[in-house]
Amino acid sequence: MSQKRVILITGGGSGIGRATARKFSAAGEHVVIADINESSGYRVVNEIKSANGDAEYVSVDVANDQSVVAMANEVNDRHGHIDVLVNCAGILQNISKAEDMDLEEHDRVWAVNYRGTYLCCQSIGTIMSKQTQSGSIVNISSMCAMFGSPTNTAYHAAKGAIRSFTKSAAIQYAHEGIRVNSIHPGYTETPFTIAPFSLPGALESRVSKIPLGRLASAEEIANPVLYLACEDSSYVTGAELVVDGGFLAQ
Ligand code: NAP
Repeated sequence: MSQKRVILITGGGSGIGRATARKFSAAGEHVVIADINESSGYRVVNEIKSANGDAEYVSVDVANDQSVVAMANEVNDRHGHIDVLVNCAGILQNISKAEDMDLEEHDRVWAVNYRGTYLCCQSIGTIMSKQTQSGSIVNISSMCAMFGSPTNTAYHAAKGAIRSFTKSAAIQYAHEGIRVNSIHPGYTETPFTIAPFSLPGALESRVSKIPLGRLASAEEIANPVLYLACEDSSYVTGAELVVDGGFLAQ
């Protein structure tokens, strides 16, 4: 039975998940990096251990229900509790109009982004509900949940579904003392954005539309995750926290 809080972060091997894992560990928590990418996952575990933190890797494909159940049970069997779930695993789609989009790719984008969030909430919510009135779930959606796209239909729709699902989960888990909130990052500097932002003019065009005039760092998205996972946010549930440098305020 782990004495520290157990923080399970899907997609913890890279970008926002990695920054979040490092911050939780620096705050003295036990971090579980749940990622499909084993080498990235172990890299973050080693980074955290080198800084005298406490972390482990567990393999998962969040889109696969059996994989998620096995991951949740493995972590719970080892520690006896899971206190915080951060649903951060996600993938982008290739640029395509809705009418041209490959259906298999459409379904994979939904499976990792939305279905993965749903499955992890279901499995880990069940574990949290057996604990005594505690638990916080933070779903990483996107500012893309709030508006349409000329070329990224499936991604925007899946992030919109996470936004809406978060509110249903918040209502349904409230009586168990489990809070569920979503974070909506704007453009953030991570491996995720390297390909789309390396197209000619793509980075400049996006930055020109951000009132703060720059991309977010992964750490700037991780900070509000820590807030939503701690007692300072004890009355916050079903909320959507936009962290976008002012993009949606326009
Ligand atoms: P990232 O650097 O690509 O990290 C995502 C991690 O999730 C990677 O380690 C990835 O592994 C893993 N992953 C992918 N599919 C998975 C699966 N099926 N099961 C488990 N793990 C899986 O991306 P990021 O920028 O940190 O993004 C994190 C989240 O923030 C995503 O949900 C994204 O949609 C959201 N977000 C990002 C931005 C942004 O501008 N970066 C903006 C808004 C929202 P691989 O490396 O092997 O794919």
